[in-house]
Amino acid sequence: SYTTLAGRTAVITGAASGMGSATARLLAAQGVRVALLARRAERLEELAAAIKEAGGEALAVATDVTDQASVDAAAELVHNTFGRVDLVVNAAGVMLPNPVDEGRADEWQRMIDTNVTGALRIIRAFTADLVAAAAEGRTADLVNISSIGAHIMFPNYAVYGATKAALTYLSTSLRTEFGPRDVRVTNIEPGLTDTELADHVDNAELSGQLDGMFDALGGLSSDEIADLIAYTTSRARHINLRQLIVQPTRQA
Ligand code: NDP
Repeated sequence: SYTTLAGRTAVITGAASGMGSATARLLAAQGVRVALLARRAERLEELAAAIKEAGGEALAVATDVTDQASVDAAAELVHNTFGRVDLVVNAAGVMLPNPVDEGRADEWQRMIDTNVTGALRIIRAFTADLVAAAAEGRTADLVNISSIGAHIMFPNYAVYGATKAALTYLSTSLRTEFGPRDVRVTNIEPGLTDTELADHVDNAELSGQLDGMFDALGGLSSDEIADLIAYTTSRARHINLRQLIVQPTRQA
């Protein structure tokens, strides 16, 4: 039982690379108008151009989700250009592991601001749209990209895991607020996926450990995560796949 994605309007954070970018391409190919949010403007412009070239509709909106004024400006531009949105994907995220006793408060703050408060800023900016769309009988979705790190403990990933556990908790809890108004909330928890996420790890030992995991386990691709997002958001509107844990088959 499914509904068509064509004609919907999406906001996708983290659209400059990885899962956000792949999701934007896939949804756009299915007829969804996509607003692309991340900090790197050139990346977004390139992606928007590629989507338009392929016959889709896209808007590049350079946005820093850690900055409320930036999110406010993005919401205004999206609303002025596309009107109301009915699909929100929170894919922006950073992963900066280090032993907690190194006390890298700068990294902790960046992860909390991006992965948790950033998602909340986007939710605040666009959920009135979702509620209004649902009230008109249209399909409305909030999709949060959490992580398997919300459940599985990895040494030196305590703060990253804590931000993802918080996001998973938020998704579950927000269902109690939005579900009764027919807005779906879907929490996706990927395992190892081949994106730029690991490029920002500044600890050589942990970086090497990640390389070893990719070699041993193989990673999922961003397109494979995008495919799941297209699947969940195209079910009939009374069906909410609320939690999806997806890992490479070899990853324990
Ligand atoms: P990427 O690093 O490729 O993508 C992350 C995106 O977030 C980038 O496009 C980046 O763009 C954007 N971003 C980062 N900080 C900000 C900010 N302050 N404001 C706006 N955008 C921001 O990695 P992934 O695709 O892997 O990450 C997507 C999500 O998936 C993340 O939440 C990550 O935690 C999660 N995840 C990833 C896994 C993996 O193995 N790769 C596993 C489980 C979960 P820019 O720098 O231009 O702002």
